[in-house]
Amino acid sequence: AVPAIEVRGLRRIFNVRQGLFAPPRQVVAVDDVSFAVPAGSVLGVVGESGCGKSTLARMILGLLPPSAGDVLVDGQRLSDMDRRARARLIQPVFQDPFSSLNPRRRVRDIVAMPLMAQGNISRTEMDRRVEEALSRVGLSVEQGSRFPSQLSGGQRQRVAIARALVLRPRIVVCDEPTSALDVSVQAQILNLLAELRRELGLTYLFISHNLAVVEHVASEVAVMYLGRIVETNESEALFADPRHPYTRALLASVLTPEPGLGVPDVGLGDTMPDPANVPSGCRFHPRCPLAFERCPIEAPKRTPYGAGFVECHLAETAAAN
Ligand code: SF4
Ligand code: MG
Repeated sequence: AVPAIEVRGLRRIFNVRQGLFAPPRQVVAVDDVSFAVPAGSVLGVVGESGCGKSTLARMILGLLPPSAGDVLVDGQRLSDMDRRARARLIQPVFQDPFSSLNPRRRVRDIVAMPLMAQGNISRTEMDRRVEEALSRVGLSVEQGSRFPSQLSGGQRQRVAIARALVLRPRIVVCDEPTSALDVSVQAQILNLLAELRRELGLTYLFISHNLAVVEHVASEVAVMYLGRIVETNESEALFADPRHPYTRALLASVLTPEPGLGVPDVGLGDTMPDPANVPSGCRFHPRCPLAFERCPIEAPKRTPYGAGFVECHLAETAAAN
C-alpha cells in the first residue's frame, strides 16, 4: 500500500548569523531524514528542542521548502500540489492554543477558516461542517459562539483540533499538541486524538520532546538528535529494547522526570546540543557515556535492526558479530 506520508532524503539548511559581525554559517537543521508512515498509523518523532523536529513538521506541512529531498503525501509530491490541495490532505495541530487561535474571532469562525480558504462553499454547508467538527471534539454549538479567551486551555486545543478536522484531511501533524496544557488535561486531549484516529482513519505525525507521551500514542517512533534520526523502530520494540545510547538516556529521563524543565534531563550533563556546531563523527559523542576512539572520527552508518535502524558504531559491531 502507498504510505500516507513518505519522506525521502529530506534536508533543510538555514544560514544563521550568531553575532552582528559574525559571518553567516550554515546550520543543517534536518539532515537526510527518510521514513514512511502507513495510513492509519502514528509515527512519533522525539527529541530535545533544537533537534529539528519542528523544522521537519513545517516541511511536511508545506510551510517551509526543503533544501533537498521529497515529501510525498498519499504518493503525491507535496511540491506538486497547491496550497488548497495540500490543506485538504494534511493539517496541523500546534503546541500553543493561545497563540494559534485568533483572539478576535469566535470559535466557529476560527474552525471555518480552512473551509473559507477553499472557497466555493455555501453558508449552510459551512455551518454544517463546522458543527460536525465541533461535535467531534466535544464542543457545543454554544461554545462555538464564544471567543478563545472564554475557553480553558484544553477547550482551546479542542478548537485547534476541530479546525484541523473541518476539511476532513487524511493526515494530521501534531507538534507538541499537549505540551502547553495541564497534566490532567493532557490525557484528555491524547485520548481524543486517539479516538479521532480510530473513527476517522487518520494518520498522525506526532512530535514531542516527551517520550512518555509518544509511547502512549505512537505505533512507530523516530528519535532525532541534531537533525538526524538516530534510531527508529516499531514503538513496542523501541521501548522494550532501545539500542541507541541517546534513546536509552531519554528513556531513563522519563523514569526520573525533572519537573518544570520543559526539556528532558538526559542525565548526560546539561549541555544542550547546538545545531550550529554539530560535533564531528557521531554527533552524539560529546554526551555519550559509551563513546570510544572511533566515535569523534567517523560517523556511524545506519544499521538495520527489527523494522527500523540504529546509527551507532556499537550497533554496527553487534550486527557484524
Ligand atoms: Fe555513542 Fe559512539 Fe554510538 Fe555515537 S557511535 S552513540 S558516540 S557509542
Ligand atoms: Mg519545537
